[in-house]
Amino acid sequence: MKAEIIAVGSELLLGQISNTNARFISSQLAELGIDVYYHTVVGDNPNRLLDSIKIAEERADLIIFSGGLGPTKDDLTKETIAKHLNKNLVLDDHAIMYIEDFFKRSGRMMTENNKKQALVLEGCTVLENKHGMAPGMLLSTENHAYMLLPGPPKELEPMFQFEAKPLLPKLLYKENVIMSHVIRFYGIGEAELETQVQDLLDNQTNPTLAPLASDGEVTLRLTAKADTEEEAWKSIEILQAEILNRVGKYVYGYNNESLASKLRDILIDNELTISAAESMTAGLFQSELAAVPGMGVALVGGVITYTEEVKINQLGVKKETIDEHSVVSSQVAEEMAIRVKEKFNTTIGVGITGAAGPDGHGDQPAGTVWIGIAYGDVAPISYKLNLSGMRNTNRLRTVKFAIHYLIR
Ligand code: ATP
Ligand code: MG
Repeated sequence: MKAEIIAVGSELLLGQISNTNARFISSQLAELGIDVYYHTVVGDNPNRLLDSIKIAEERADLIIFSGGLGPTKDDLTKETIAKHLNKNLVLDDHAIMYIEDFFKRSGRMMTENNKKQALVLEGCTVLENKHGMAPGMLLSTENHAYMLLPGPPKELEPMFQFEAKPLLPKLLYKENVIMSHVIRFYGIGEAELETQVQDLLDNQTNPTLAPLASDGEVTLRLTAKADTEEEAWKSIEILQAEILNRVGKYVYGYNNESLASKLRDILIDNELTISAAESMTAGLFQSELAAVPGMGVALVGGVITYTEEVKINQLGVKKETIDEHSVVSSQVAEEMAIRVKEKFNTTIGVGITGAAGPDGHGDQPAGTVWIGIAYGDVAPISYKLNLSGMRNTNRLRTVKFAIHYLIR
């Protein structure tokens, strides 16, 4: 199943807005295991739109349009498609009703061209617009399915998610259910993971299997089509068992879980609290934790100690430790962890010090990082990273690594 998204709007070509609709629709289609092969952007011009439609029909089964469903002269998506497919535009009673209702509620006068918005492609399934006036449309012909969605994201997103998406399994696959399940890995590269499951990737049919890498993490998405939820889940479970058998030791979570949400659960379940003293990450570690709801029970606070003076005067790291071992050292990372743990009276203290790049620190190359962890009364531990990315990639990788180090 190949899809193409055609975003219509001259403002996109002029650089006045970004094509967030294509991004949203693509990520939604990925959940259904539908591959998006092309994003097209075309201005509000019927001839060029027609050209785009013809090209899309050559290379996609499902063509999704965003924009150009409004009441004004430059909105001509449905008119162009109607002409191309030889379909009439017909008034949809339901759409008229909610457009009239919309005007009543907002106390505005309905004009004749607003009625134009209730015109839909003959024979289509109308997608209700709960946040605006223009109805969406879903139409299938012998060889293609066409979906027309309004341009404003606050209309398009809920319409796609709640009106269109539930109809796609039946329409595209003649199946009732498409179920998608994500396995999350840390500590294994994309290439290595793909090598380990290469035969599964090569022979995939149902469920399908799609790898994705970002920010030092890798995920595998398993998508099953079936008659019932039970059947879909059963086939996902069988494939998942085989994957876990091979690379299960790198799995840290599933679906919407993140490294930080896993850490939150572990901290809360074990009644642990955490604080951090951050140098090269300058608050990024705590920010990543705070992004997860419910973290307030476990994350107490912390400090940014960027310079040596602040490490010494505000946090209490010994000047001799820095002079003797360098500020980027296991000793300093561990001392930072101990001091912050004491200062904030937590069960765990984290200390992060390193050279983010592009410059190294003394004879230590850029990407050298030490993460120190102090826990309870036991001796602190530390871990050295040798990263090779750009400055901010190194900072983010450090944070992810530190969180993963804590949840192992
Ligand atoms: P309206 O009834 O508001 O005119 P429409 O379906 O005709 O809706 P457009 O006129 O093409 O849609 O776009 C309306 C607005 O929606 C744009 O000004 C822009 O803010 C937003 N928009 C359109 N296309 C996109 C897109 N691809 N990504 C993000 N936003 C978009
Ligand atoms: Mg418009």
